[in-house]
Amino acid sequence: MNEVRHCERPKCLVEGCDEPKKCRGLCAACYSIARLRVNSGLVTWSDLVSMGLALEVEERPRNPFASALEEKLESKKQMNGAMDDVVADAMQQPAPDAP
Ligand SMILES: [Zn+2]
Repeated sequence: MNEVRHCERPKCLVEGCDEPKKCRGLCAACYSIARLRVNSGLVTWSDLVSMGLALEVEERPRNPFASALEEKLESKKQMNGAMDDVVADAMQQPAPDAP
């Protein structure tokens, strides 16, 4: 009942290859070889998919953490930009309340 499941890293789909998968179900090494073959015109990705040697490109849903972080970084960047402007203004102009 209380089955302990180890978090398995998804592996390359090529039989006998134990590398973690990177792209299209293939590890970095297998993917780069596959891509070379595809680029050389020997096969297409859909051929490889139908042969079971690659997967369709996975469309990943946008990760909420990634979106949130990007948003924060973006607003931080904007804030820093605004601060820089304020500092630049303060350095260029004399204090307005000076008589
Ligand atoms: Zn592999």
